[in-house]
Amino acid sequence: GDVIGRIAAGEVVERPAAVVKELLENSLDAGSSTITVEIKDGGLGLIRVSDDGEGMSRRDASLAFERHATSKLQSDAQLSAIRTMGFRGEALPSIAAVSNVRLRTVARNEPVGTQLWLAGGTIARVEDSPAIPGTSIEVSDLFFNTPARRKFLKSTTTEFSHISHVVQQAGLAWPQVHLRLVHNGYEVFVLPGVSSARDRVLQVYRAAFGDRALAVDVERDGLSLRGFIVDPVRARAGRTPQELFVNRRPIKNSTIQHAIIDGYSSFLAKGHAPLFVLFLDVEPQRVDVNVHPTKREVRFADTEHIHQMVRSAVRQTLGRAQV
Ligand code: ADP
Ligand code: MG
Repeated sequence: GDVIGRIAAGEVVERPAAVVKELLENSLDAGSSTITVEIKDGGLGLIRVSDDGEGMSRRDASLAFERHATSKLQSDAQLSAIRTMGFRGEALPSIAAVSNVRLRTVARNEPVGTQLWLAGGTIARVEDSPAIPGTSIEVSDLFFNTPARRKFLKSTTTEFSHISHVVQQAGLAWPQVHLRLVHNGYEVFVLPGVSSARDRVLQVYRAAFGDRALAVDVERDGLSLRGFIVDPVRARAGRTPQELFVNRRPIKNSTIQHAIIDGYSSFLAKGHAPLFVLFLDVEPQRVDVNVHPTKREVRFADTEHIHQMVRSAVRQTLGRAQV
């Protein structure tokens, strides 16, 4: 509950959706195949993420809330070859600093689990829990000790729509994982695990894409670009989806955004926006994900090359569709 902790938390935890994103990433890093996200009142009432992943030992569970106590990085060399979603060891301490947390976790093959309660970042109570596999983290009273942050939040409807988007993005990047989102006791959506990215994109965006989806599938010089774009001649007006993933992370990147728009340029009818769900995979050494506290931006070692590859992949895919 110290001031430094709360300031650092401000960078990672801007709003309830940021909490959901971090908890989901941890569940995915833990190898979960089923994840349930339960929300009350746009995340200000409660955020609960439950998974069936590898869980934590009692020692790891207490350590998880100490700053930079990541179990995922042992050296600098690993930072440049990072393959897990998390690596900073900042999310849990940051979340715990501005909320009350209850953790229930069971390490695989352990007969007893652990329950932990934290208040404003400090462990208040530890107990045994029944050996139900996986981890469940409940975050309540978010921003109770940072009233300024709480004041900047929008309506619960808006905050929930950000949460919903974050869960959808995780769904797009992890098609095999069964994901369920519940708000105020109502099931908002379920995404049963599917075997391909294509099936998952259609699960999520059937209305926007339907049979207008054009598959993009290019591999060149250690870069791979896969996913779907919509033939703009037949696309309905609208701006969603515009989703870009780099190594499975949802990313905002002006170079790629620009390359996509450039690739579309001669095909785009007036009033239509490019619609896309694209997954770019790059060797971890060629992309810096450690640019932004929430890992939503990346920097590429060879920007020009990536721009050119994305633009020509989009152009070729649209060109083929017009024949
Ligand atoms: P990071 O993900 O960057 O390592 P976090 O603060 O997000 O840091 O999490 C700290 C540590 O807590 C993780 O490294 C992991 O060992 C453990 N952890 C967090 N959530 C889970 C989970 N759902 N299942 C198993 N382990 C978890
Ligand atoms: Mg993490």
